[in-house]
Amino acid sequence: MRAAVYTVKQSNGWEAYLSIDPRVDVLWWKGELSWKENEVTPAADRVIFLGVSLPLGWAVKLHRSFTYRKEMERWSEAAWTSYAREILKAELDQEEELLRAGGDSPGVPEQESEQTGTDQRDLLHPHKLLDYADWLAKALRGRSLLESEVEALLTERRPELLGCWRSAAQLAYLQGRLRLEAAVGAELAGEAGSLERDGAGGAGLREDVGRDKQLGRSGRVEHREDGHERDRGAAGRAGWGVGTGREGAGYVKRPGRALARAAWLPALRGRLARRFAAAPAHPRCLRCGSAATGRTACAACGLAGCAYCEACLALGRSRACALLLRGAALPAVRGTAAMDPAGLRHRWGLSAAQAEAAGAALGFLAEPRAGSAAGRPERFLLWAVTGAGKTEMIFPLLEAVLAAGGRALVATPRRDVVLELAPRLAKAFPAESIAVLYGGSRDRWAEGRLALATTHQLLRFYQCFDLVIIDELDAFPFHNDPMLAFAAEGACKPGGAFIYLSATPPQTMQREVRRGRLNHARVPVRFHGFPLPVPKHLKMPSVGDCLKRGRLPIKLIQALKHSLEREAQIFLFVARIVQIDRLLSLLRRALPGAVIEGTSSQDPERVDKVAAFRRREISVLVTTTILERGVTVPRSDVFVLDADDRLFDEASLVQMAGRAGRSKDDPKGRVVFASRQWNRSQRGACAQIRTMNKIARHKGYLNKGGVQ
Ligand SMILES: [Zn+2]
Ligand SMILES: [Zn+2]
Repeated sequence: MRAAVYTVKQSNGWEAYLSIDPRVDVLWWKGELSWKENEVTPAADRVIFLGVSLPLGWAVKLHRSFTYRKEMERWSEAAWTSYAREILKAELDQEEELLRAGGDSPGVPEQESEQTGTDQRDLLHPHKLLDYADWLAKALRGRSLLESEVEALLTERRPELLGCWRSAAQLAYLQGRLRLEAAVGAELAGEAGSLERDGAGGAGLREDVGRDKQLGRSGRVEHREDGHERDRGAAGRAGWGVGTGREGAGYVKRPGRALARAAWLPALRGRLARRFAAAPAHPRCLRCGSAATGRTACAACGLAGCAYCEACLALGRSRACALLLRGAALPAVRGTAAMDPAGLRHRWGLSAAQAEAAGAALGFLAEPRAGSAAGRPERFLLWAVTGAGKTEMIFPLLEAVLAAGGRALVATPRRDVVLELAPRLAKAFPAESIAVLYGGSRDRWAEGRLALATTHQLLRFYQCFDLVIIDELDAFPFHNDPMLAFAAEGACKPGGAFIYLSATPPQTMQREVRRGRLNHARVPVRFHGFPLPVPKHLKMPSVGDCLKRGRLPIKLIQALKHSLEREAQIFLFVARIVQIDRLLSLLRRALPGAVIEGTSSQDPERVDKVAAFRRREISVLVTTTILERGVTVPRSDVFVLDADDRLFDEASLVQMAGRAGRSKDDPKGRVVFASRQWNRSQRGACAQIRTMNKIARHKGYLNKGGVQ
């Protein structure tokens, strides 16, 4: 899309504005869109266009780079032009170079609406415009949506706005309730790092107060119809100054015309497009924080090199000329006062260990938050061992934030967890409407103070929640994905709080815990009060060697038989998918009578096999780390073959070991790490498990009889 940038002179100096529908700005500055009573509005003395129809990315840059200078009062048209050109020098140079080198011609957009995004219809009646702007500002509060997503939302919730919402958005922007951003933009000097929130600042809203307070509106709009062929469309059809009868006749100077034209230079072929894949401006995707490495000829903005983001492509195309709408956030609320552990145990049926950790987290939520130096949300880690019952612990945290009038989000990497958790949350909070969000979910645009979402859905929120709970922070896809970390931080209000849940926090976080730099609480014991089973080492050749020889070591067979005799089901983890089938035939030969199956991420029957395993129809399930989390069966033992394989890190070994002994009827499940070497990861996993058991014993959390 293309947009206009203009500056308005008021008593307190010049201020720049972005416009995706200048017809609305005309009414606004004429004072015909009053939305708050008794407002005093300084008049606009002059209006000057810096660009009438610029590629959105350029318009945004021009707008936010604008700074008032005293000498502007006396500037001629030429001075304004060179000022705008100076700000966009890098972009102009780049585009010209692309075109000279024969960049692909995107062609001139045929319809005016594609250029400026201006809606085609006649402008709405002011009453309607105000009503729609109000609705849109409320619907987009805490959201971060691309145009296509806004339209999906409208289709579902307010279809009459389709076709005219841009006018309403422009008004909400002028009211200071909505930010208009380019989804991909260059970082400005001084903006620290890619993952800094509030990146490409636009209107720079801080609170939900209208900027009319600072700026006001009304005043005269001046215009000269000078009839340049290409520009007339944008300004003319948009209605800026068309018609007469405006008091204080003069003219709008339009130095931006030259810029607008620069973008339409006849373009040829695109060999050099690839060279610009690594352009010096380092554009970033505002939505996901990734470097936008791609550039392409784009019909929507008319540039030969419109930057786009490949990282978040799955959620709609984010590019330099794509409009990203962000609602202004409400101020963060603090959780209600902390509750003592005894009260928590009673209210939510928590164990002593759960109640103590939840109490600590509640204390953290209730603390006055000055906000950290970087203005980021503060963090708290709930480090709960596998089988601790972490879901129960989040209920009091959500309650505290909801009771204070805040909004909370639970994000989890897995869809099945979302589906399983939704009814439990609905039962715990019957008065709340809960938005359940995952790819393809039905209430994608539902409003709810309580949201439950898969991690990718976080990209659609902006400074929305007072509390963001990230479940299984260390699990795929969250682990090592800076995009999701960026999105999670963006979804949280600046004064809000983060709570991470994990049985195996990433090393960096464990380091912060050791150094006392991260608020945290441990839940060192399972809900049933028995210690975690400590893995035993079984020395044996690698699975590869066993397959070559065509037999399994007798020690392993005996250990497996032992588990089958005590009627435990067996998780048998291997590192390589390719070994599963051949291993299955060796096992079936060695353990006649047992039902043995194998599954992996590549198995189309995985869901059925896991279900059969849960129904106890399968005794031994040979699998990979794909089942290291999530699947729990009451009486189970765990064998990890090739436990010294580099694919199994400490966290993954702890998670796999965590499958055993989950039930209170069989709390002492067996865990065997079978390998040639006893390596660092296995040592680390055992140490972590022992430490948790030690803390549990020390705190008196262990059941009588559970003490080892
Ligand atoms: Zn474009
Ligand atoms: Zn992106």
